[in-house]
Amino acid sequence: MTVILAIHAHPDDIEILGAGTLGVLAGLGHTVKIATVTAGDLGSAEMDQARTARARQAEAAAAAALVGAEYRCGGIGDLCVFNDDASRRTVTELVRWAGADVVLTASPADYHPDHEAVSLLVRDACFAASVPNYATGSSPPLAWIPHLYFMDPIGGRDRAGAWTVPDFGVDIEATFQTKRAMLAAHQSQAAWVARQHDVPDQLQSMETWSRRRGRDFGVAMAEGFRQYRHHPYPATPLLQELVGAAFVQAPRAAS
Ligand SMILES: [Zn+2]
Repeated sequence: MTVILAIHAHPDDIEILGAGTLGVLAGLGHTVKIATVTAGDLGSAEMDQARTARARQAEAAAAAALVGAEYRCGGIGDLCVFNDDASRRTVTELVRWAGADVVLTASPADYHPDHEAVSLLVRDACFAASVPNYATGSSPPLAWIPHLYFMDPIGGRDRAGAWTVPDFGVDIEATFQTKRAMLAAHQSQAAWVARQHDVPDQLQSMETWSRRRGRDFGVAMAEGFRQYRHHPYPATPLLQELVGAAFVQAPRAAS
């Protein structure tokens, strides 16, 4: 059985960008695990930091349970994610905890500094996880480097506005209701996203994005991925094969 770890910065990022694919993988009998590097502790204007962190971890765990996934939080603070020694060890421990064969993480270029920092940390953690003498915590080192994939950035664009073109897509029409329910589990975020991001309906925004990505691939709804293939990371198309009939080819030139 293959183990897939989805790891992103905040509770709800994975639900927006990759939960449909996790539903596909779970439905095919693979083991899915979910981690966030922060607890999303700054994501509220009504609750204090500690209460927000508790509420959002509970929401993330409830969302993960909808695909049978265990959830773990790295415990680094929102807007405090940096590519440093302590953070790399924390993130490497999460990769080891999962025992991941496949890792899905944040886009290297995205709107939020935590997203970009997590992308770097996870990239390097996949390498570090197999280094026996690199100390992280209680989980044993991996005997391999996981296959690494980047999810789309939020909205599909980098900070310069350039459109991100995925290597391939996953057709998520069959698992969209699970994806929607996973995002809906983040009840605390409806008010926050409306306030901070001027997005009045996060569920509708996610659906619009899923349909937009689907159009790129000629299907109703999709999620896009890019594979990190640089030496010594494995370059075989493992995720592409794991999703089976849900795999969709690279998009036409984007508009
Ligand atoms: Zn985020």
